[in-house]
Amino acid sequence: MLVKYTKHGHIDHIGGVPSHVRKRLMSHAKPSTYYMPEHLVQTTKQSLEIAAVQSETAELATHAYLKPVGPGESIQLPAAYVAVPFPTVHAVTSQGYIIYKQHKKLKEEFQGMESQEIASLKKQGVEVVDEELVPEIAFTGDTTFEIFEKLAHPDLLKVKVLILEATYIDKDIDKQGKTSRTKARERGHVHLQELIDNADLFKDVGSIYLMHFSDKYSSGYIWRTVKKVSLPAPLKGKLYVGNMVHDLGF
Ligand SMILES: [Zn+2]
Ligand SMILES: [Zn+2]
Repeated sequence: MLVKYTKHGHIDHIGGVPSHVRKRLMSHAKPSTYYMPEHLVQTTKQSLEIAAVQSETAELATHAYLKPVGPGESIQLPAAYVAVPFPTVHAVTSQGYIIYKQHKKLKEEFQGMESQEIASLKKQGVEVVDEELVPEIAFTGDTTFEIFEKLAHPDLLKVKVLILEATYIDKDIDKQGKTSRTKARERGHVHLQELIDNADLFKDVGSIYLMHFSDKYSSGYIWRTVKKVSLPAPLKGKLYVGNMVHDLGF
């Protein structure tokens, strides 16, 4: 089972669903499960129906499981992973996801005990393990930096990998005297400089992958800009450019 998460209804995100469903269909892969905010389920279903008509492939309308999920809920995944949505701040209703690994640990009172004894306790129905959820990955989708200022989820800044949008990275000022940083906040996005100025917030995050750069930047510009930024200590060695596909001719 392949699981995909949809963060909000803007076409650069939700628009990928019909194309992904078609790829699954063409490669004879089983239907994927697509998790999304509840209000997007019906319209996504309709967009698959339209895509089925447009591409004259009736199965396209049904080769997907669309499931609603929202903050406060969790999704059990294979291999002992759990996904938990959290609200983000964007121009439309949106959410990000934190992926946890489930770890089972022998309860303290049973540590050092022979394995046969533990097995017999288990047989008697004694709960011998504690379950611990370790936050591994967070992906924000489109959001402003506010999700870090007023923490959108208590585990957001404890993850090993943070996949973060950084739509704006330039220091331009437009004709109205507006900086890109101001525009980022107004349009529901993050500016790279907000990350730098609040580096301390990220001291416990393992690594940060930036993505969703504005189409106005070339790949070269993104590389040069992110590379030449002098990073404060809490960010040193952990900032990566996550997706460069849009300008490489693919
Ligand atoms: Zn968006
Ligand atoms: Zn977007």
